[in-house]
Amino acid sequence: MAKIPIDLTKGALKEVEVPKENVIIGIDLGTTNSLVAYMLDGKPTVVTDHVGKNALVPSIIHFESADSVIVGQDAIEKLITDPENTIFSIKRLMGKSYQDVEDYKRFFSYQVIDNEVEDSLVKIRIKDKFYTPIELSAKILEQLKRRIEKTLGAEVNRAVITVPAYFNDAQRQATRDAGKLAGLDVLRIVNEPTAASLAYGIGLDAEDTKTVAVYDLGGGTFDISILKIEHGIFEVLATNGDTFLGGDDFDRAIQEYWIEEHNFDTDNNAALTQELRLAAEAAKKSFTKKATFETTINGIICKMTKVQFERLVESLVQRTLSSCKNALKDAELSIEDIDEVIMVGGSTRMDLVQGTISKFFNKKLNNTLNPDEVVALGAAVQADILAGNNKDILLIDVTPLSLGIETVGGLMDTIIARNTKVPIKAGRQYTTSVDGQKNLKVAVYQGERDLVADNRKLGEFVLRGIPSMAAGIPKIEIHFLLNADGILKVRAKELRSGVEQTVEMRSPYGIS
Ligand code: AMP
Repeated sequence: MAKIPIDLTKGALKEVEVPKENVIIGIDLGTTNSLVAYMLDGKPTVVTDHVGKNALVPSIIHFESADSVIVGQDAIEKLITDPENTIFSIKRLMGKSYQDVEDYKRFFSYQVIDNEVEDSLVKIRIKDKFYTPIELSAKILEQLKRRIEKTLGAEVNRAVITVPAYFNDAQRQATRDAGKLAGLDVLRIVNEPTAASLAYGIGLDAEDTKTVAVYDLGGGTFDISILKIEHGIFEVLATNGDTFLGGDDFDRAIQEYWIEEHNFDTDNNAALTQELRLAAEAAKKSFTKKATFETTINGIICKMTKVQFERLVESLVQRTLSSCKNALKDAELSIEDIDEVIMVGGSTRMDLVQGTISKFFNKKLNNTLNPDEVVALGAAVQADILAGNNKDILLIDVTPLSLGIETVGGLMDTIIARNTKVPIKAGRQYTTSVDGQKNLKVAVYQGERDLVADNRKLGEFVLRGIPSMAAGIPKIEIHFLLNADGILKVRAKELRSGVEQTVEMRSPYGIS
């Protein structure tokens, strides 16, 4: 039986101590906003700011100087007053090379640097220093860490961090590295849709058997995931999405409309660009309550109606439907097989989105939880499971992209296929093509295309010291071990001699 402590000096009941050490926190590291949550009295709870109001920490970082950095709400106004030193949407650059983001460079008001080394990590120049997206994301994580430590009055150093299900290995690794830089031991990287299901408690009852579609339209990314939940097992049947589609694009549609309508000259005027961006977002948000919007920018009245807005962004919403169709196809399911549709991400507040998705799935939507908080709440549930407080639950994810190695003629030989459940071990035997061959290069790729040149290279290594044998005699086993975070270990072993080498496929973008 629980004992209630009494303060003998005052005769009052003492506050019951919640064990604060060893808390594992759940973090939603978002494009627009980030949140931190934890289990409080058995309930996932988001941590709010010092006035207990806002749980969202805008994912914005402002550099006053290299040593003076502001993160979150206070950095927002700096988007206008000091755009070059104010970073937004850094998640879009995680694990990306300059080539990956070149086409989108104009949307950033800060300097995205091309160091002219193919496939090297993109860098951001702030004043006279260069930063990686990992370092910048770490600033956001540090802020979240400080926030929860203040609330708990205790140090926190273990976390679960969520990522879009569509994130590739490089992006997952970058997220993990950002956690490490922020002083967090990242126990698990969890797919955002998996976390969302956990937040809704779906599957926590072992009797539940459901097929769920998680529609997640955030600030910068769109994910659709089809999950099968059975006997406490969460299995991601398929994922699809677009890492460059989100609320930002809806804002941009309004922004570009006003620029054209009023001939705003935004060239070399980063402050005006940002002002338009923020006004466009305000307009978009207002349409959940009102039918018209009006504001003044640079002395010019900018207007928009909800009807106009919905016409402008119709094609963006339709693009999400294409992804939904592809995910259903990959899962070999039809719309009738979906039992529940879960809405996640701030952008699902839009009436046009809700109407279109409800009609497509022919279902009433699950949107009772705050769509901004769902993922962080689910991350806290996952953290609690890892802490051993919910032993019955298993989580099974799938790898969103195929993994394989390069073979003769630059062909991709897939070893772990897309949508395979992880963790998984898989292997295949190869041999040499030349007499007396001593070395074998193993180049690992991720992607669906037949030619490795069209896929993404994760890394390569050379198995050395193969004893001299005729071509075709050595038995070289290439073995892949993909863990629950989607991070890959590759082992090459010549089975006759036992010569072997194991390499963790840290993406080319990881920190060493
Ligand atoms: P998230 O990445 O989930 O935090 O999503 C943030 C996105 O949701 C941003 O693009 C916001 O502009 C958008 N958002 C928040 N509230 C609303 C709203 N009422 N209507 C439309 N979009 C919204």
